[in-house]
Amino acid sequence: MSEQKNTADVIIVGGGPAGLSAALWCAELRMKTILFEKEAYFGGQLLRIYNPITNYIGLETKNGREMRDRFMSAVEKIDNNDGFIIRLQAEAANIDTAGKKVILDNGEHFSANAMIIATGVRRRKLGVDGEDAFQGKGIIESGAKEKEKVENRIVAIVGGGDAALENALILSDYAKKIYVIHRRADLSARSEFLDVAKKNVKIEFRPNTTVRKFTGTGKLNAVEVANIETGRKGKIGVDFALIRIGVEPNTELLGVELGLDDNRYLPVNNCCETGAEGVFAIGDVANPVAPTISGAAGMGAIAAKAIYLRKNLENPV
Ligand SMILES: Cc1cc2nc3c(=O)[nH]c(=O)nc-3n(C[C@H](O)[C@H](O)[C@H](O)COP(=O)(O)OP(=O)(O)OC[C@H]3O[C@@H](n4cnc5c(N)ncnc54)[C@H](O)[C@@H]3O)c2cc1C
Repeated sequence: MSEQKNTADVIIVGGGPAGLSAALWCAELRMKTILFEKEAYFGGQLLRIYNPITNYIGLETKNGREMRDRFMSAVEKIDNNDGFIIRLQAEAANIDTAGKKVILDNGEHFSANAMIIATGVRRRKLGVDGEDAFQGKGIIESGAKEKEKVENRIVAIVGGGDAALENALILSDYAKKIYVIHRRADLSARSEFLDVAKKNVKIEFRPNTTVRKFTGTGKLNAVEVANIETGRKGKIGVDFALIRIGVEPNTELLGVELGLDDNRYLPVNNCCETGAEGVFAIGDVANPVAPTISGAAGMGAIAAKAIYLRKNLENPV
C-alpha cells in the first residue's frame, strides 16, 4: 500500500455502532477516513442481540443483526472519492496516541491527524477452571438464542444484575430448574426483573456464593461453588450454565496518557475527546451512563463533527 493510502484525516478503531456512526459522519464531512474492525464482521455487540430492538428511535428491528445490516447499508452508500476505507479482520495491535499511529496485527502502519477509539466492551470472565473448556459444551452464550436447548434441563446462571435475571426469566419458560449464583447478598438487578424472578418457583437464588470451577466429562455436568460467609464448598449438578457478570472495556492497548479511569474506561469531555489532544473515544468504551446503541451512534456524530470543526478552524479556506 502506498504511503498516501496509509494516511488519513481520521482513523477509527472499532466497527460497532459507535465506529460505524463516526465513519458515516467523517465521510459525509469529506474527511479522509479509515475504519478498522478486528472481527470478520462489523456490528460489535449488535451481533449478540437476539431480541427485537425497539428502543432506537425510528428504527425497529427483529434483532441486532438486522440493525447492523441497516447501519451497513448506510455506510456502504458513502461515496467519498476513495477517501473512505473500511477494513475487516484488521486488529489494531499497537496504538500510538501521541503520534496518532496504528499498527495492525499484520504489521501494516497507518497514521492520521485525529483518532477515534470505538473499541467497546467485552463480557467479563470469571477466570475459573472449565470456563473456556465448556464453552459451547454446556456453557451457553445467550438465553434468547439458546432457550430451546435447555428444555427440561437444569441451568446455572452466574451473576446478579439485569442481564443475569433477564436470562433467568427467559430460560425459566423452558428449563426444569434455574440456579442464580451470585457472590453478593443482594442482587443488583432492577425490580422489573427481580420481583418476577423471586416469585418464579423454578428459580432458586444462591447468594454469597462464588463459582470455583465448571466440571464434566466432555460436557458440563456440575458447577463447584463456595459460600463466601461460611466457606462451605459444594457442587451443583447442572446441564447448562450462562455467565453474566458484567463487562470490561477493550482498552488494554491504550496508555495512561489518555487518562484511563480506575476501571480502565476512557473519560471524555463534551466533544468526546480524551485526555490526549486529537484522540477521541466514543460508545461503550467511554463509559457512558447508559451504554446504548443510540448513545454510541450519537457520540460518533459528536466526535466526527468536533474533528471537522477543529480541522477547518486550523485550515480556514
Ligand atoms: C445482549 C445485548 C442486548 C443489548 N440490547 C440493547 C438494546 O436493546 N438497546 C440498546 O440501545 N443497546 C443494547 N445493547 C447495548 C449496545 O449493543 C451497545 O451499547 C453498543 O453496541 C455499543 O457500541 P460500541 O460501538 O461502543 O461498542 P461495541 O458494540 O462493543 O463494538 C466495538 C467494536 O470494536 C471492535 N474492536 C475492539 N478492539 C479492537 C481493535 N483492537 N481493533 C479493531 N477493532 C476492535 C470489536 O470487535 C467490536 O466490533 C445490548 C447489548 C447486548 C450485549
